[in-house]
Amino acid sequence: MKPVYLLQLFFPPRCVLCGELIKAEDEDNCFCDKCRVVWEQEKAALCPVCRRDAGHCGCEPKYNRSATVDGFRALTFYQTENVKKLIYTLKTKGNSPLYKMISRELALAVMKYSKVDDQTVLTYPERSRASVKKYGVDQAKTVCRAVSKLTGIPCAPFIKHKSGAEQKKLSAKERGENAAASYTINQKRKDEIKGRHIIFIDDVVTTGATSVVCAALCKAEGAKSFTVYSVAKTPDLKG
Ligand SMILES: [Zn+2]
Ligand SMILES: [Zn+2]
Repeated sequence: MKPVYLLQLFFPPRCVLCGELIKAEDEDNCFCDKCRVVWEQEKAALCPVCRRDAGHCGCEPKYNRSATVDGFRALTFYQTENVKKLIYTLKTKGNSPLYKMISRELALAVMKYSKVDDQTVLTYPERSRASVKKYGVDQAKTVCRAVSKLTGIPCAPFIKHKSGAEQKKLSAKERGENAAASYTINQKRKDEIKGRHIIFIDDVVTTGATSVVCAALCKAEGAKSFTVYSVAKTPDLKG
């Protein structure tokens, strides 16, 4: 008996949204049947501004004034309790069926919306050491590596975290300043950035500050483009 089965005896898989037990044959799934439908509906939700879904919505945060980020793609919008719960679980728990589902769907979105060539590379914002210690997960890194495996696009840690105050406790303006102070280019890998099309994987885009700061860092090293793919983004991206 593999240890994973033993674990499931004591901690049987539960739906990430409603907590209902998931059937043994569905153990690779993070939703119960009902919530799987809910998730499909969340992905079909339309932007209140442009009336397009999150994959096609071109609305951008005001932070992106100088168009440092070339595009913000997402699986859904960050507006309902269901999506907020899903993102929270992703940030705070190492739920492997949820990670698998998110990685698979982001991989599909990247292949659908981006023109991938041998200059395309995936990266992510490194999480602060304090948060990784607190929650035991580095969600963007884990998902980015999984997307790399699924798509064959290489993944490189171009962005390092310098640590600092937690993002969520700050106002939009403070977030912008904090993000600028929080991230730096990975000196060991910066020579690989020039001429590359960067696909930036993150869990959620709220103000867009993190994406814009990381894009500016990469473009200063010669990146040709920088496109963000997140699980969710706020529909009314007020910077
Ligand atoms: Zn459920
Ligand atoms: Zn829109």
